[in-house]
Amino acid sequence: MKFLICGGAGYVGSHMVRYLVENQHEVVVYDDLSTGHREAVGDDVPFVHGDVGDAVTLWRLFATHKFDAVMHFCARSLVGESVVDPYQYYRNNVANTLMLLAAMREAGIQRLVFSSTAAVFGNPRSDTIDESHPTDPINPYGQSKLMIERVLADAYRAYGLRSVALRYFNAAGADPSGSIGESHHPETHLIPNLLRAVLGNGPGLKVFGDDYETRDGTCVRDYVHVNDLASAHLLAVEFLEENEGAFTFNLGNGEGFSVREVIAAAQRVTGRPVPHVIAGRRPGDPPTLVASSLQARQRLGWQPRIGVLDDILGSAWRWHLQPRY
Ligand code: UDP
Repeated sequence: MKFLICGGAGYVGSHMVRYLVENQHEVVVYDDLSTGHREAVGDDVPFVHGDVGDAVTLWRLFATHKFDAVMHFCARSLVGESVVDPYQYYRNNVANTLMLLAAMREAGIQRLVFSSTAAVFGNPRSDTIDESHPTDPINPYGQSKLMIERVLADAYRAYGLRSVALRYFNAAGADPSGSIGESHHPETHLIPNLLRAVLGNGPGLKVFGDDYETRDGTCVRDYVHVNDLASAHLLAVEFLEENEGAFTFNLGNGEGFSVREVIAAAQRVTGRPVPHVIAGRRPGDPPTLVASSLQARQRLGWQPRIGVLDDILGSAWRWHLQPRY
């Protein structure tokens, strides 16, 4: 199949591109490089520099290539930033996505896989979150993703667009090759910040809050390997060949780890201490986010391959020892 990968130079998108190429699919990457890295996409992969809000470039792309499906990874994705600058989030994540959807409609492309997030759930009301859990985002980032999920439901009813929104829990790890990995500027995520602290790079690790109502007072998250997210996207496209509708699936390993537990695991994996200090809570962080991914397993046939936290950390560690960008 032939795919347009919007945001293919970003963290999850670049792992997707590699996964598709390894599985003999054809790929064109479209990315404005606002947060992604050109080096994260192989030189042999066609790359178009541009913004999903740029209708002219999109139409040109759709006139040149015949895509079977689009995967849409472009987004601003920092909770704190979204609270401070919501317009940026609604413009990038909502308005620009509408341009993409309109261009896809014009070009007659009927399948989309959309990157959504556990942030659509807000403060969860149960220990594990399945797709029937109510959505109630507590920040503009989560709102922006939920808005598009709703647009996709309407787009199916009105135009027959088939879509799957995949709600990632905590994307983590790196391709085992060590040639691509997670690199954000500034970096806000736990695992990269922690591994940089081990290496003595960066500002050091702050643990955001140890007074939550969790087993050790720190926040609990469900870490899922980035290549397992990639495999779910391809399964989602295959699912849409057989199934009509706008679907949502949660993607996580179903097991939560506290920040302290991640620190302990990183000490095991790296064999080095993780210097850290306890700091205040970070606004917008719910205490616990753990997925039930039963639906993805049953309906998509999804099977995470790197489900053990130490293995996820080990792959991230290999990347951080020799990051290429
Ligand atoms: N966290 C932390 N220190 C950091 C980054 C994150 O203590 O430098 C905590 C954060 O408060 C949350 C968890 O680690 O409880 C995961 O945060 P991350 O930003 O990696 O992902 P999020 O859950 O926000 O998507």
